[in-house]
Amino acid sequence: MTAAEEKLRDRIRHTRQAITSIACAHNRQDTEIQLLAVSKTQAADQLRSAFNFGQIAFGENYLQEALDKQQELSDLDIEWHFIGPIQSNKTRDISAHFSWVHSVDRLKIAKRLNEQRPAGLPPLNICLQVNIDHETSKSGVAPEDIMKLVDEVAALPKLNLRGLMAIPAPKACFDEEFETFKRVRDIMQKIPTMDTLSIGMSADMEAAIAAGSTIVRVGTAIFGKREAKTHR
Ligand SMILES: *Cc1c(COP(=O)(O)O)cnc(C)c1O
Repeated sequence: MTAAEEKLRDRIRHTRQAITSIACAHNRQDTEIQLLAVSKTQAADQLRSAFNFGQIAFGENYLQEALDKQQELSDLDIEWHFIGPIQSNKTRDISAHFSWVHSVDRLKIAKRLNEQRPAGLPPLNICLQVNIDHETSKSGVAPEDIMKLVDEVAALPKLNLRGLMAIPAPKACFDEEFETFKRVRDIMQKIPTMDTLSIGMSADMEAAIAAGSTIVRVGTAIFGKREAKTHR
């Protein structure tokens, strides 16, 4: 094993240990919390190594970059999650090549993903992205508009509406992070059919798990600091 592979193995191990220990501290079962390795900008061989260390689910933000890696890694049974902003001309490939999409924030995109989901594949797992801090710069449906979108998306047969995703604005401390994530969870709990809360990244994973996260999306803590992005 190369030194780089050892480092990656240790980072995955530490991240899993952190999830277990945070879950324990907040009266949660670590088995309820899935680790999604966010692999944007990482080369395919990094994902291959991570897979060999037991990491099954990977999150990608940029479609073309993801499709290239999927081709290179087609011998591995990876669970692919799309987590980036979605332009409507990208929905066909997203719907055909991913198991999960976390970043649906409008009906038009949901309808296209539904229509374009290939026959023979199970329904596409969907999280609706909530713009929980009302940031103008950020994608996501406003909290006050979520219920309408939930009803509309729930009616689409080839989508399986699983839950909510959010990327809060940076906060100064744990309590503020927790309070924000808690607002996302409170919305989710009004929707009994939902079982998924996609919140928490490398820097705010603890507050997210304390607030009820079921999928943490972790990049930096697993792969190290990212180079500037090269794909769009
Ligand atoms: C990049 C990214 C992450 C991972 O962020 P880290 O801070 O590297 O853990 C999680 N979610 C989304 C939507 C991202 O774009």
